[in-house]
Amino acid sequence: MGSLAEFRINISKLSEGIHEYRFEAEPSKIGLDERFCGTIKIAAKIDKSVRQIFLQAEIQAEGSFFCDRCLDNFHQKMNTEYSMVFVQGARSTMDLKREDEIQVLSADKNYIDLDDDVRQYLLLTVPQKLLCKEECQGFCPTCGVNKNIASCTCGAKEADPRWDTLKKLSHN
Ligand SMILES: [Zn+2]
Ligand SMILES: [Zn+2]
Repeated sequence: MGSLAEFRINISKLSEGIHEYRFEAEPSKIGLDERFCGTIKIAAKIDKSVRQIFLQAEIQAEGSFFCDRCLDNFHQKMNTEYSMVFVQGARSTMDLKREDEIQVLSADKNYIDLDDDVRQYLLLTVPQKLLCKEECQGFCPTCGVNKNIASCTCGAKEADPRWDTLKKLSHN
């Protein structure tokens, strides 16, 4: 990563009130791996007051994953949003609401970089279980055919393992 951030907001001469920004960048520019594809788009809104800068950011991204069941590549929208309060200098943060995410900026800092936060929030949106679709059939354990694309004859004999468990239970 270069030293110049992709998503940078200059706050040195920012007047009080609402300011809106739009950014776009390639995922690799903010240190995201190849699971992220396409262009990352950010709509950021800043509300500057004397005491603090309140930031809201909406992020649009797209993920390219491999399904856990059928190993197919699939794309998925990775939209998320976050908000952050920035306070400058050694100003007290006591009067801020506890639930707000707070970052303290040094008094001479004249910009806010969103890159790190955007990367963190996007990584949090990657699902634990990667499925091309909720009802993905995956591979047949017997003949290896992708059951989303083709059906096989072994299916008639083999039962859903969940039913096996139920059967065992009912025999007891
Ligand atoms: Zn799948
Ligand atoms: Zn089969």
